[in-house]
Amino acid sequence: MFSFIKIVLRNLIRGPSTEPYPFGKASAPKGLRGKVKFDAHNCVACRMCEHVCAGGAIQFSEVPDKRGLKFTLWHNTCAFCGLCEYYCPTKAIHLTGDYHTAHLQKDKYGYVETGLVKYQPCANCGTPMVPVSPRLLSLAYGQVNGDIARLTHLCSECRRQICDPVSSNRSEVK
Ligand code: SF4
Ligand code: SF4
Repeated sequence: MFSFIKIVLRNLIRGPSTEPYPFGKASAPKGLRGKVKFDAHNCVACRMCEHVCAGGAIQFSEVPDKRGLKFTLWHNTCAFCGLCEYYCPTKAIHLTGDYHTAHLQKDKYGYVETGLVKYQPCANCGTPMVPVSPRLLSLAYGQVNGDIARLTHLCSECRRQICDPVSSNRSEVK
């Protein structure tokens, strides 16, 4: 009887060991693979995530006014495998600790993560291009000098011309 009272008193002092969810916040365990988050600012539209996606949950498509590429991820198709995060070169996509995935059946096609990777015009020829993300530059070069910064504002064709010593068009690139 004494040990029973001791346990009751100890538990009263310590409080509940379980989370009060759904009446309070419940913390996610470290490393939980929850809902995917996309960061358009750091995406270089390499489309690797779309290629490796185990669930076929990711799609890139050009927006009708050609302002850029739209990223769409259907949460209810995602298998939480983490391949998109693993293969993304710029860490522009990652799985969060958010495990709230319940939604109504009628909302299933609208239960998405979206983002727009905006095109920018090439500084030399004006061709719309996907800008190089700041994170990719810092991962690749650390400190970005003036030459590299200038190249990042050129499309792949103008970069090829300016960097190719035997290119006949080299002098045309400003
Ligand atoms: S999110 Fe990452 S892997 Fe996907 S297209 Fe953007 S840069 Fe590439
Ligand atoms: S976690 Fe897996 S299934 Fe989900 S979007 Fe990323 S690659 Fe696709």
